[in-house]
Order: sequence, then structure tokens, then C-alpha cells
Amino acid sequence: MTRELKLTAVPSPEGTATHCPYCAFQCGMALSWDDAGDCHIVGNPAFPVNRGALCVKGWTAAATLRHPERLTTPLVRDHSGKLRAASWDAALDRMVRAFRSVQQQYGNDAVGVFGGGSLTNEKSYLLGKFARVALRTANIDYNGRFCMSSAAAAGIRSFGIDRGLPFPVDDIAGAEAILLVGDNPAETMPPIMQYFDAQRASGGRLVVADPRLTPTAQRADLHLRLMPGTDAALVNGLLHILIRDGMVDTDYLAQRTEGFERVKASVTTYWPERVERITGVPEAELTRTAHLLGTAESVMILTGRGAEQQSQGVNNVSACINLALALGLVGRANSGYGCLTGQGNGQGGREHGQKADQLPGYRRIDDPAARRHVAGVWGVDEALIPGPGRSAYELLDSLGQDDGVRALLVMGSNVAVSAPHLNNVAERLGSLDFLAVADFFLSETAALADVVLPSAQWAEEEGTMTNLEGRVIRRRKACGPPDGVRDDISVICELARRLGAGSHFEYGNVEEVFDELRRASAGGPADYSGITYARIEDNDGVFWPCPDDGHPGTPRLFADGFPTASGRARMFPVRHEEPAETPDDEFPLYLTTGRNLSQYQSGSQTRRIAELAEISPAPLAELHPSTARRYGLSDGAAVRLITRRGQADFRLKVTRGIREDTVFVPFHWAGKQAANRLTNPALDPTSRMPEFKVCAVRIEGLETLDAIDQQTGTHSTTTTER
Ligand code: SF4
Repeated sequence: MTRELKLTAVPSPEGTATHCPYCAFQCGMALSWDDAGDCHIVGNPAFPVNRGALCVKGWTAAATLRHPERLTTPLVRDHSGKLRAASWDAALDRMVRAFRSVQQQYGNDAVGVFGGGSLTNEKSYLLGKFARVALRTANIDYNGRFCMSSAAAAGIRSFGIDRGLPFPVDDIAGAEAILLVGDNPAETMPPIMQYFDAQRASGGRLVVADPRLTPTAQRADLHLRLMPGTDAALVNGLLHILIRDGMVDTDYLAQRTEGFERVKASVTTYWPERVERITGVPEAELTRTAHLLGTAESVMILTGRGAEQQSQGVNNVSACINLALALGLVGRANSGYGCLTGQGNGQGGREHGQKADQLPGYRRIDDPAARRHVAGVWGVDEALIPGPGRSAYELLDSLGQDDGVRALLVMGSNVAVSAPHLNNVAERLGSLDFLAVADFFLSETAALADVVLPSAQWAEEEGTMTNLEGRVIRRRKACGPPDGVRDDISVICELARRLGAGSHFEYGNVEEVFDELRRASAGGPADYSGITYARIEDNDGVFWPCPDDGHPGTPRLFADGFPTASGRARMFPVRHEEPAETPDDEFPLYLTTGRNLSQYQSGSQTRRIAELAEISPAPLAELHPSTARRYGLSDGAAVRLITRRGQADFRLKVTRGIREDTVFVPFHWAGKQAANRLTNPALDPTSRMPEFKVCAVRIEGLETLDAIDQQTGTHSTTTTER
């Protein structure tokens, strides 16, 4: 298929200012079209976050708009099992019939909704309302559960609020010392490195804790190459040294925190020699790091998915928060704890009600006052709003089961690649009575659906996003979608109308959805009520909370107190617990997974972009030279990785940049090269985050290279049989 898609540009001589479709840095960019109809992207130097810089994913983002594989008509599976083009009426009718039939047979909760952390705030809000008001199901969750939930849960229990960075990103440049645990922004969001580079250029020090010598770790003053799954032990060990050496801020602890004595008692057993044994980080490096943090005037502790995507993810983040509080950092200039959010709207997407336990404004769905408030805004009886539903993996694991979800709507997510224990998820998806997917490509998940709806993309829609700083920004429409494509907002409203709830979904435009979101969030932890489209335009975004029209927004949190019952931050003792799976005779190595520079998440967009596929056409399994020698493997060899859940095949990259006991693979590919065929769905007991970052694995050489799929992985997804 090589047809050209027609784009209708919104005319503007300078181009239309909007934001990148990918990560949470949400780089400002301008889109313009030349006379030949080609779209050009430049970084927006006036946007104060990326200051004109983009990474290769941003530069090439326009390729998705006119991509020949773009879906431009609904698809409906026919009696022979093939997906065929259909009218919007036929597709939506089929969905409504299926949802009604399943709910009549099995109850309202048998229809589920699965959203995404890339959806705009307006879509996230409306999807949550659609699930509760139009479908009346408790079962809605989203792929952000796989991304930010551990940091979110730890932040809420200690600070009373969850905002990834509680300060603007340029505070990073002024920190005298930074400890970065389990993040690799030099590859995942390269433009942020301008702040880390400025920090180091002015004499600051950077310490990176990671099992791999990542491009970020290569720029650090000190790299702590810890064993996967030992983050809490490492950080407890640092706190042990700081307490031992009298370097904690006792005044701050007395005035602004509670729970320190219990934490202090809990870290007494994390003496350096023991921590070295658990983590593999030499005692001298632990002491050097602790003293660096203990003597600097301004210090940041930052975490990423490496520490968070574990069955101990909340504990790992809590250990980091304990460290930040013990040093008196939180609420001080160029200091504090923060997490670097992953997905484009990973922040806003977790605030407005597409989580199983949540109502808009980051309210709890089991809080009677929250239910009353939101029911009032929605104009429904609060008793009709369902209670908490299943978390993301638990929802997927219930598909097709007797008391589980029997019909599913997926919007903005590709769970057939991004979920853990993919073999199980594929089986569960296959056992559904009905699956509908809204996407702009025939993703691996869409290829399994009974109905596929072609969605408008980032540059074709209006809305707001909330970046990693909690700054609410405008996504502006730069062109119309191709003929036949509809935006998700209008699709949700039309589905609601056909389900008999249309009177609750009448909006003249997207801004009216945002205005309702503002009212629904009023008084909640993530209060957007004072934020308007006009104020966002005038101020390069507005930081929440912003509780009224005259409020300037809140770039920095916690200067005067914490939104907890006592006004103090809460500290929780953390014990190092082993990962759910550790190496043994049968599976003797650790497996850890992550991202690379030129691909994004499940790769559904980026694997289809030629320039990006050229940079990384296929995933490489990284192995240390001495380990490779032990297995008789050389660089470029074909290997099979095997865990208790499945196997996947890769080419080998032999590198000294990884621990001898660990294999790393990126997770952007599908089919035989899907890293998530291997990963462990063991869940954190609080956040319900799966353990993507550590499990036990065996490596075997493959006799022939034919076993490796040399393609990008995209083409293996066109199968339409269910
Ligand atoms: Fe910026 Fe992230 Fe887009 Fe790269 S992927 S251009 S860092 S928003």
C-alpha cells in the first residue's frame, strides 16, 4: 500500500506551535507545510522546557501523519474471520450491540475499557466518564499503570500528592548534586540533558545508579552498577551512612516530617559491607556517594522506571523519598525528590479518572465526598458511579474468564506488546467475546480486534497535555485528519449517545470538555479549576494545582508544607525484599528491559518510521564479554532468551556496559522479538505495577540466523485472524 494521504493544514506562515507526540518532556515544536505538501518540524526555541531542542523521534514525528499504513476506515471482522473495511455506522453499531449483549448476559462490569498515558487530558477524562456513566462499568484502567504507578503511590503516601517533578525542570541545572536511580534520559528524552550538562558545567556532581553503563551513566561522575532489584538496599545503605556520620538535617526532620525514628531504626542493619554484598556496589562508592549528597548545599534524588517497575517499586521510591527528607531537601531550592515521567501525558493521564480507583482531580473513587462532587458535575446519581475496578494487568488477566471482562474497548494502548507475560495476555485477548481498538495504525492489538476505529493523531487534534513538571500545555491542531478518520472525543460521545447516555456527552468543542474537567477537578489534589486555554496560551503552560482564575499556578510544591493531615511529610520504613524471581540453576542470569534512543514504547509508531528503523532495525540483547565467553557466544550471534513464561530471539551485542550476571533487551518490538514474552507479571502489592525490570533468564545460542526476524517487527503484525 503506497497511497499518499491528503493533509489539510491549518494555514499559518510561521507554522503551528504544538508539542511532540511522544515522551513526557513534551518538547515544543512548530509544524509547517511546503508547496509540495510535505510537513516540516522545527523545535520551538520559545518553549521554556526544551528551548528548541528535539530528539530524533521528535524530528521525524511528521512521518506518522501521512504514513501509507495509516488506517482511514473502520474495520469490522466478518464471518470468515477477516477484518474488512466498514462504515462508521456499521462499526459503532457492532460495538454497541456487543457491549449490550455482554452486559445483559454477564453484568455491567463484564465490559472493560483500557486507556493510555498518551491520551490528552480531555480524552483521559472523557474515557473515565464514558466507562462510569455510559457503560456503568468499574473496569477501566490504562497503560500508565505499567509506567508511573509506583512513584505515584509512594508520592501520595509520603507527600499527600503525586506530581512527577514538584519543581520546574530548569531547577535541575542549579542542583549541586544529583542522584539518578534507574533512569536513562540521555536516550529516552535527550533534550533534558541540557539541564544535566549545565549542572555539571557549573561544578555540580551527578551519580547514576543503574545495572547498565547507559549513555546517561557515561556522563556521570560516579556510576553505581547495582544488581537488578536491589535499589531499596542501595538507598537504605546511603541513609545508614548519612545517619552514622551525622549528616542528616535534624531540624528539618523535627519540623517537617513524621516517622523518622522508625526509618532510622530500619536502616541500622544496612551497614556498608552488607549493602555491598546485596547490591554489588563497592563500599567505597557507597560512602563517596553518601558524603557527596550529605555535604552539597542543594541535592536532587530522581527516579525512573528502573527503580519503579518492580514488585518492590513503591518501596524503592519510598527509600529515595526517605533519603530526600532525611537530608531536608523537599521544598528547598534546586533540591528535592522527583520522578521523570515516561509517556507523553503520563502525568495528566493519571489524574483525571481513567485509573481503576480514581475520579477526576486525582480523587479516590471510594471517597464519598469525591463521588458526590463528581456526580454533581456529571449530573448523575452518585450511587450509579461504580466502585474501584481491576488494575491493568489484573484486568487483562481476567479477559474471557467467568467473572472477568468479556468485551473490551482499547484506546491509545498496544497491550499485545506492552503488557508483561505476553503469551498469557495474547491468550486472554483471544478468549474475549468482543474486542474493539481505536488506533491510527493496525497495531498488534488492533490486529486482534473485532472492530478497529481509525483515530486522529496528535497534530490533528486539539487538547491539553500535562508534562513531567505538572505544566498543563496546549496540543494544537496543525492539520485535519485524513478523510474517513475521526477524533476519539467525537467517537466517545457518539458511542455514549448510542448507549443511551448522550445527554451527558454533549460538547460543542474540546475546550468545553476541558471546562467540565476543570469543574470536576475543583477541590481535588490535582486541581485544574483555574486553568483555561487562554491562560495556557499566555503563560507557556500553567502548573497545577491552580484552584481559581486568579491563582498563578504552582511551579514549586512543598515550600510551606505538605497536603497531608498533619502538614508534614510521612516517612515509611523500607526493607530490601528480593525480586519475585532470582537466578537459579535453570535460569542463571538476570533479565532487565528498557528503551532505546530511536524507538518509543510498543514501537507501533516509531517502528514504522524509516529513519528510526534504520537507526535500530531490531532489538539487541546486551551481554558482558566474560558471560558471552562462558556460553561460547560472540558479538552478532543469534540467541534465544528463555524465562518461565516464554522465549524470544535476538542478536547479541557483547558489551562491557552491563553487569556479568545480567542480560538487557529493549521492549519496543513484537512477535518473536517481544521482550515482554519474557517479563514477570508479579505485581507490587500497593501500586499493582508489574515487575518488568527483573526476572530470571537462560540464554542459548541459535544454530541458524534464520530464526531471527530481520524485519522491524511491524510486518509480523498484519495477521488479522483471531
Ligand atoms: Fe522531546 Fe521526548 Fe519528543 Fe524526544 S520524544 S522530541 S525528548 S518530547
